[in-house]
Amino acid sequence: MNTSSAMPTLVYDIGHHRYLNITARCTLRCQFCPKHNGSKQIHEYDLSLSQRITADDIFPLLGNVQEVAEYVFCGFGEPTLNLECLLQVAHVIKAQGGRVRLNSDGLGNHFHRRNILPELSQCVDSLSISLNADTPEAYQQHCRPKLAGSYEALLEFIHLAPKFIPEVHVSAINGLANVNIEHCRNIAEKNGAIFKQRELDIIG
Ligand code: SF4
Repeated sequence: MNTSSAMPTLVYDIGHHRYLNITARCTLRCQFCPKHNGSKQIHEYDLSLSQRITADDIFPLLGNVQEVAEYVFCGFGEPTLNLECLLQVAHVIKAQGGRVRLNSDGLGNHFHRRNILPELSQCVDSLSISLNADTPEAYQQHCRPKLAGSYEALLEFIHLAPKFIPEVHVSAINGLANVNIEHCRNIAEKNGAIFKQRELDIIG
């Protein structure tokens, strides 16, 4: 276990899932994010990153792909902001017969100003997108995007994603003020995604 920011946790296991922490950058400032509440930890892992992570940092830490149920790009930032590393590592996992999931805020296309889903579709089996709000106002309140037009871009990403990725989950958190969880479910399901209801204060 690494608890010092000088020794960041890039790879950690929860059960048979291996989590890959490849960036701490994010264009959101979610008010429920542990990062914005004085914590750098998920479970017992310190996920703060001070340097840019490359695929070469991750490769030696992947372990035996056959012994891992699923690799999950997750952590304290948005993995698609380190797209080159994400794609390189995911391709290596797939080439060795592994399974890849990406947890995303759904703003990768907005940030990169192009559709990155065709690239993701070549190496990602499952995509989990955080919706978190059924209106732009609630999204602004809870996720505080730095980029204008983020909520509209997120809805467009949710619309496109199932056309490229075999399994798409869309999540929202039950218990957030001014969020209608059933409206969130409708947004997911009308686009062909599976809705995942999360509960406030449970991260992971
Ligand atoms: S998208 Fe995730 S990492 Fe970024 S601020 Fe929100 S909860 Fe934190």
